[in-house]
Amino acid sequence: MPKEQTSVGPREGGEGWVPSTRLGKMVAEGQITNLNEIFSQGYKIQEPEIVEVLLPGLQEEVINVQLVQKQTDAGERSRFKAIVAVGNGDGYVGLGVGKARQVRNAIEKGTIDAKLNLTPVRRGCGSWECACGQPHSTSFKVVGTCGSVSVEVIPAPRGLGLVSNEVGKTILRLAGIKDCWTRSFGSTRTTASLAFAIFDALRNTYKMVPPSEWVK
Ligand SMILES: [Zn+2]
Repeated sequence: MPKEQTSVGPREGGEGWVPSTRLGKMVAEGQITNLNEIFSQGYKIQEPEIVEVLLPGLQEEVINVQLVQKQTDAGERSRFKAIVAVGNGDGYVGLGVGKARQVRNAIEKGTIDAKLNLTPVRRGCGSWECACGQPHSTSFKVVGTCGSVSVEVIPAPRGLGLVSNEVGKTILRLAGIKDCWTRSFGSTRTTASLAFAIFDALRNTYKMVPPSEWVK
């Protein structure tokens, strides 16, 4: 008889985790020991435990919780929509959304979604005023969009700090960026769009390969 395996609640470091994907099994068995391998191979993360195991000390920040009301045939239905950011403060950040009838459940779902949406962030020093070569900013200007909102993340010299609104500062800090300017365009009062536009910009740092890393 196979041993009965039960799933536990929130896990630290994948405790009690029974992997259900091939990638998950490889991580649980220790065949993959860092996230870099996963992203460089282009694997898709489908289990949050993969991130919990490979990125201990991950921080979570609730960006926004909103009550969403919807008119249905059965009457009015209200749910909470939570936007959650996760990051290790050192080159990895994720952003997710969760919806539920209770705030706590919406946040939990948002946190899982953020882990599945994790992206590496390419950092550097693209500031001509600084040129220190340390990864305290971005290497180049990146643009991200979500709906009608677009955000530019621009390299800045060391010590400048994060020139952004609170939502942007939280996401940039979780990603491990210490200095940058940001400029946003469009309906920037929509917190969700703004957050996802900044996240998109950070994800784009990884998609774009700077000339210094071109392979001959
Ligand atoms: Zn610098």
